[in-house]
Amino acid sequence: MELKGPLCYVLDYDDIANYAYQTAKKIKDSEWRPDAIVGIARGGWVHARIQCDLLGVKELFSVKVSHWGVTATKDGKAKLTCPLVGDIEGKKVLVVDDITDTGESLTMAVEHIEETGKPKEVRTATLMHIAGSKFVPDYYGVEVTWAWEIWPWNFYEDLTALIMKIFEGEDIKELTTPQLKKHLREYNNIVLSDEQLSKVKAHMGYLEKIEYPQDKVWKLK
Ligand code: ADP
Repeated sequence: MELKGPLCYVLDYDDIANYAYQTAKKIKDSEWRPDAIVGIARGGWVHARIQCDLLGVKELFSVKVSHWGVTATKDGKAKLTCPLVGDIEGKKVLVVDDITDTGESLTMAVEHIEETGKPKEVRTATLMHIAGSKFVPDYYGVEVTWAWEIWPWNFYEDLTALIMKIFEGEDIKELTTPQLKKHLREYNNIVLSDEQLSKVKAHMGYLEKIEYPQDKVWKLK
């Protein structure tokens, strides 16, 4: 069945732990040992922190690159919005992100880190790599075909954006929970429990996207 929106997968923290472990295993098997890790904000931060543990690294730094706007919609070119924070001079540095899709963010981050930080060597690692991406990281947990991956640290943000797109796509101001469930399946192939949906509803109320609180209906503000 053809979807009305982008295909999405909902990942949980067990998936992340598993992919991070696979990535770390490849790094260890290559007998390379980073002195420092740079996590790309925001998507790479949780993975970067986990790699510190898996690889025994104490120095964790950051750069911020902004690329995608709302869920599954690119926001023009990748932009470096916060420069490298931390001293990496003469160090072996692992740059960590969540996924390589276009690869523009990682390319930009690596160029910036090499130019400004004077590292000894830079390598890259992601949890997932989309087949065909121009940039192939040195290490990644799994290769996948394109889908929008809903990370557990971005669940409420992504679901809010996807549900707002359903309201827009259906040109409607009000939905019941069963209707929304059906649309999430038709638009994004997403199936959520009632408990997850009620938490998303409360979150969207908090953000003042919908009326709050409402028992059965999701009513746009
Ligand atoms: P990279 O950081 O590898 O260069 P992109 O520039 O393509 O990747 O994307 C930047 C960020 O946008 C990613 O780090 C990730 O947080 C988010 N992103 C991109 N593509 C996806 C996707 N298919 N699923 C989930 N998040 C994505």
